[in-house]
Amino acid sequence: MDTFERLVQTMMQMPLAERINTLRAERAKCICMDCPTFTECAKNLDQGFFCFTGMSIICISHEVRCLCPTCPVPPETGLLHTVFYCTRGDEKARRYDQFLAGEMR
Ligand code: SF4
Ligand code: SF4
Repeated sequence: MDTFERLVQTMMQMPLAERINTLRAERAKCICMDCPTFTECAKNLDQGFFCFTGMSIICISHEVRCLCPTCPVPPETGLLHTVFYCTRGDEKARRYDQFLAGEMR
């Protein structure tokens, strides 16, 4: 089991309020709002932290550059897919897609 899997498992056992606080603390480190791919629409809807919350379906459809590799969240939480969470989906979804692709081969 890797760091991300352990984190998800730990969070699933937390009471809801503690889980929200844990995610809020990680979200505070997100630097998406400084990224050239981040849009005014995403800002207005207070989006970000896509690595945990999933892709931006409404606001971001064009990849310019991604700051995720310079963000502290991936190394701290064990994320393996370190770019373009806003357009390609969150870590959990991408791991699941990868798993399905492997299973179907
Ligand atoms: S890895 Fe990317 S999406 Fe996740 S918190 Fe950092 S900047 Fe935001
Ligand atoms: S996920 Fe990456 S590309 Fe998207 S807004 Fe955040 S830093 Fe920029």
